[in-house]
Amino acid sequence: MADKLSRSARQGTETDISTAAVWAGEPERAPHGATVMPVFHGVTYAYDDLEEWRAVALGEREGHIYSRNTNPGVAMFENKLAALEGAEAATSFATGMAAISNTLFCFLSPGDRVISIRDTYGGTNKLFIEFLPRFGIEVVLCDTEDHEAIEAELAKGCRMLYLETPTNPTLKVLDIARLTRAAHAVGALVVVDNTFATPVNQHPLALGADLVLHSATKFLGGHSDAMGGVVCGSSELIAELFHFREINGASLDPMSAFLLARGVRTLALRVERQNHNAQAVAEYLAGHPAVAAVYYPGLPNHTGHAIARAQMKGFGGVLSFALAGGYEAMAKVLSSLKLAHRAASLGSVGTLAGPPSTTSHVELSAEERARAGIPEGLLRYSVGIESAADLISDLDQAIGSLP
Ligand SMILES: *Cc1c(COP(=O)(O)O)cnc(C)c1O
Repeated sequence: MADKLSRSARQGTETDISTAAVWAGEPERAPHGATVMPVFHGVTYAYDDLEEWRAVALGEREGHIYSRNTNPGVAMFENKLAALEGAEAATSFATGMAAISNTLFCFLSPGDRVISIRDTYGGTNKLFIEFLPRFGIEVVLCDTEDHEAIEAELAKGCRMLYLETPTNPTLKVLDIARLTRAAHAVGALVVVDNTFATPVNQHPLALGADLVLHSATKFLGGHSDAMGGVVCGSSELIAELFHFREINGASLDPMSAFLLARGVRTLALRVERQNHNAQAVAEYLAGHPAVAAVYYPGLPNHTGHAIARAQMKGFGGVLSFALAGGYEAMAKVLSSLKLAHRAASLGSVGTLAGPPSTTSHVELSAEERARAGIPEGLLRYSVGIESAADLISDLDQAIGSLP
């Protein structure tokens, strides 16, 4: 059944994602008929038959040897994600940043050129400006929404195009299909960070990308109680990446895989609610006189609205806004919120709010943030699954507390 469902999910049919989130990847029969895949904490797997052991170790037969390489529950989580992203295969990591750094270091070599955008996640940006150049890899970061500039850089040739859309924290949107065509014309590999959109809202592989990755810590897990990362793509690329990761050792812990898989089973329900809540909150904020700007792709005046409408099924659960009163007003509103954790991260069942200077872009200096066009008075607001009316009245009392 899981196989049949993952095949239909692979075709990207819209009605399948709720069902695939529950059933895809699940074992046909777990030990003792368990209806929930158990956690295999054991690190190592025993074989009486030396020939069988050797066959499994060489990957000629299915089975597990040692948990840094593979683990039954971790494999289930990977198969579930592959189905949701419409991929042949997936491999997982200890964190989202491990997924990103392993992908970059696996597929790039000294002398290669990688093209990306200024608005990637803060940690990703650090890899681009601090670490990759140390290994002789040339990094070109383009203005995020300047598709012509990205195409012009691609035309000069490169090994990889690395995209993130919508971006952190101003929700800029990139046309994945258009940029993928330009990248493939010069033989480049296209990698997309799909963390903000989730597979419920966006399918980069169906738009032509080669690899799609996630910080599973965010919407996939959805409860802020487990960290992980995952990369999905063709069997060939994922085999190469799996080999890099099994040696480099950034494996996903089995307990985290269990928590993340449990979260994924309710992904479609949660994200549909978060899409709805974020739209309602964004519209409320856009009509408030104390709010100077609202960044949400679901608003018709957002710069990425048209592309988002065409390539996404929903606009996602994250928005950001700036208050007319600047940094001081933002700090006051933040401290007055009752229905939000003042904390880093996003995509959880509970609303999370914080400025980029303490969350997504904490790794950057104030100067680097200014250069990236991130106002210090910006507040990122990741809606949870609470009622939209309650979130709006909470924001209303917080903004109303301003002098
Ligand atoms: C959080 C995040 C990451 C990093 O993930 P971790 O699990 O924190 O390592 C990467 N990309 C995006 C878009 C993120 O939001």
